[in-house]
Amino acid sequence: MNADLHCHSVLSDGTLEPEALAARAKANGVELWSLTDHDELAGQRRARDAAAALGLPYLTGTEISVSFAGTTVHVVGLGFDLDDPQLVAGLAATRGGRGPRAREMGEALARAGIPGAYEGALKHAGNPELVSRTHFGRFLVERGVCADTQEVFRRFLVEGKPGFVPHRWARLGDAVRWIVDAGGIAVIAHPARYRLTPTEDYALFVEFKAHGGRGVEVLTGAHSAADAARYAETAREFGLLASRGSDFHSPGESRIDLGGLPPLPAGLEPVWETLAPRIHAPA
Ligand code: AMP
Ligand code: MN
Ligand code: MN
Ligand code: MN
Repeated sequence: MNADLHCHSVLSDGTLEPEALAARAKANGVELWSLTDHDELAGQRRARDAAAALGLPYLTGTEISVSFAGTTVHVVGLGFDLDDPQLVAGLAATRGGRGPRAREMGEALARAGIPGAYEGALKHAGNPELVSRTHFGRFLVERGVCADTQEVFRRFLVEGKPGFVPHRWARLGDAVRWIVDAGGIAVIAHPARYRLTPTEDYALFVEFKAHGGRGVEVLTGAHSAADAARYAETAREFGLLASRGSDFHSPGESRIDLGGLPPLPAGLEPVWETLAPRIHAPA
């Protein structure tokens, strides 16, 4: 099953509209799709309807920003009810911190000799409630400060660099509860990307499970084959469902296209089997 359960549209930090992503997923052979914009559901109905029109089964999705052990961890929610008031309010509160943070990032970059970055980033943002580091990245590339967004992150936007502004996101337990209470399944996104010690990584999965989290992304654009093997083992050890998602953002930027990942390693329970009753099947 070519399931792709992680990607982004212009409603967060992707560059394609939900309809264009649906068409791209379909053209690339995706058989089950989810749009998972950061902290935002605004693209969900468009994605679901576009998928239905293409005969592409769809799961509702989002990717919630969480603070854990002094770093940022992402939790993907899949198959939840779009109208759940607690989830809607939780995501709105999580988005709420982004405006002030983006202004502070602009000020920090100005002090580093790059003026106008807040306004520049805002112009790249399709959703004014969702200015992200990615939009700053695109602005700095446009300005010619860096060759690509990877370089922007390395030089400016990560901890210890001049444009990084520490931020408090949602609590792990809250994010999981919002998803689960809305009828969905919570999944730890791209676990190999976090700068956690082995002890913290273990604690993340222990706490995540204790809160009702049930899945882990084994295959994702940022994982090497070794990362996938490591988190396949984590899935088995913790009895977690395995997910698979490209984390596609943009044709020019993303290394892995929609539908472009290899199959899940053998012996794992795919999250989409448990989510079967939550899939929007085309008429
Ligand atoms: P934010 O939610 O504003 O902190 O932005 C996080 C987003 O930045 C992630 O979802 C990725 O899309 C992007 N990102 C994070 N690290 C990198 C990196 N090293 N290179 C390129 N993009 C990155
Ligand atoms: Mn992103
Ligand atoms: Mn992420
Ligand atoms: Mn993502």
